This record gives sequence, C-alpha cells and structure tokens, in this order.
Amino acid sequence: MSTSVAFIGLGNMGGPMAANLVKAGHKVTGFDLVPALLTHAAEQGVHVAQSAAEAVKEADVVITMLPSGRHVLNSYAELLPAAAPGTLFADCSTIDVADARAAHDKAVEAGHRSVDAPVSGGVVGATAATLTFMVGGSDDDFAQVEPLLGAMGRRIVHCGQPGAGQAAKICNNMILGISMIAVSEAFVLGERLGLTNQALFDVASAASGQCWALTTNCPVPGPVPTSPANNDYRPGFAAALMSKDLTLAANAVEANGVAADLGLRAAELYARFAAEGGADKDFSAIVNAIRAESAA
Ligand code: NAD
Repeated sequence: MSTSVAFIGLGNMGGPMAANLVKAGHKVTGFDLVPALLTHAAEQGVHVAQSAAEAVKEADVVITMLPSGRHVLNSYAELLPAAAPGTLFADCSTIDVADARAAHDKAVEAGHRSVDAPVSGGVVGATAATLTFMVGGSDDDFAQVEPLLGAMGRRIVHCGQPGAGQAAKICNNMILGISMIAVSEAFVLGERLGLTNQALFDVASAASGQCWALTTNCPVPGPVPTSPANNDYRPGFAAALMSKDLTLAANAVEANGVAADLGLRAAELYARFAAEGGADKDFSAIVNAIRAESAA
C-alpha cells in the first residue's frame, strides 16, 4: 500500500532512506535546510517542499532524520501544528532518551501518534535498505510504521514503549565503544609482548575474546581484509558519531545512577580522540591513539 510520507532531514542518512521509500512506491515529500540536498532528493523522485510545514500538510507519516534532540524538538514545534490530526511521527535520529520521550509527549499532546525509530547500519545500510530499526511506541503505532521501515531496512525490532528504541540504540553502542577500546588495548599490549596481530586474532577470534569489534571491524590491518583499518581507517562508522552516541549513553548513565564506569570512560576517550583529529576516521582508529600514548 502506498503511503504519503513527509521526510524531514535529507542528509547522509535521510537522503538515501527517502530514495528507498520512493523506490518502494510511496509518495515522499521532503524538506531540508540545504538547497543542494533538495535538488539531489528531487532527482531521486522525492517531491520537494518549500518548508517543513508544507511537507507535512498532507502526510500520513512524518519521518525526521536530524542531527540531535535539539533539532528534533525545535522542528516538532513547527511540524506538529502543521500536520493533520492523528498523523504518525517517526523520529529516526539518534537522540537522548529524555528528548525522545519529550518529543513523543509533545506529539501526543498535539493530537498525533509517535514512535522513536533510530537505526544502525550507517550510510551503507541506508543506501542498500538494510538498516536495523529499533522502535519505541505502542503496538498499534508499531504495526502502522513497520511496513514503511521495512522499505528502508532489513530488521525492524519493537523494543517497547516510547523511548525504548533510543534506549536500545545507546546501550548497543555503549557495548560497541567499550569493546572496540578493549580489543584495541589488547592488540597494543600484544604488540608490546612480541605477539603478532595475526596470532592474537587467530586465538581471540576463536576464543572467549571474540566480538564484532574484533572479527568484523578489526582495528589493525591484516586479519580482516574488509575492515576500515585496511583502508586508511576511512569510515565505516566515524569516531565523531561514536563519540556522540557515547555522550548520549553517558547522559543516560548519569541520569539513572548506573555504575557504568567503562561506559563513562569510553565516552571520555572517544571525545578526546575525536577532538584531537580522529573525528572523521573510523572509530577503530582509536587503536593508533592508544599505541601513540603508550610509553616508548
Ligand atoms: P547529516 O548531518 O548528514 O543530516 C542531517 C540533516 O538534517 C542535514 O542535511 C541538515 O541540513 C538537516 N536539518 C537540520 N535541521 C533541519 C530542519 N529544521 N529542517 C530540515 N532539515 C534539517 O546527518 P546524518 O549522518 O544523516 O545523521 C542523521 C541522524 O542519524 C543523526 O541523529 C545521526 O546520529 C544518526 N545516525 C547516523 C549514522 C551515520 O552513519 N551517518 C548512523 C546511524 C545513525
């Protein structure tokens, strides 16, 4: 069934996601503040609106894919009054759990429905329509949005009530950030102990140290030829985005009084790595900072 979708935020992720909705036969009206992105979206079959409010006027579903919670809450102030009553809002941005809940409450107060539906899979997944969506919202709202998300992704998981999608996203990325640092520290220690990277990989990848950061995104060149380490650490998943997600996780850790020492430390290490020139590199490049900071 064709749905009328408004897509707000046509950047690195939103651009290809909107194009995949068009390919699946939906009527997509898009808006972004950057004119060049509107031109590109039009080439992909997206109807271009002159404002965010105009884009949502006739939409059944409004998807937002914006940089941060501040952008989402600010844009909702314009979008909610402009949409027809009962419109389903799906925010796919990665934002604070508290902001996601606030956005949901505002949508409901304005007479609409809402889910949070952040993604993992990056620009590659957005382009290939293989994203994983983590959805927070009621059963009915999930049932309505699931087929639409299916046009942009491969795995759509209903994580619970509003905010649960963002919660799942930041918990997963906290595991990933910590495990990448753990794998990287182990490689640098192994090097100091005279172990080759390949030998450590051969053991750990078949033993209890096995994890995605090691076997798929291996931070040293060689053992996993497809990992960004073999391509000058071109992302992949940029360290700036890992730092952003760990900051969101650290906010939630502190707000909820969780004794997550490693999560907080990982947020500090990635913030420093991003600030000291690593922002645009794949997050696995942190191995080089660990090596550089180790005693000569
Ligand atoms: P991006 O900066 O490329 O795109 C965001 C777009 O939002 C920009 O084009 C910007 O002009 C637009 N925008 C900002 N305010 C707006 C407004 N009021 N109205 C209309 N457009 C507005 O960012 P991205 O990489 O596409 O990421 C989007 C979200 O997805 C972020 O929350 C990010 O954390 C998350 N995410 C990104 C990746 C990734 O690999 N890039 C992976 C998973 C999740």
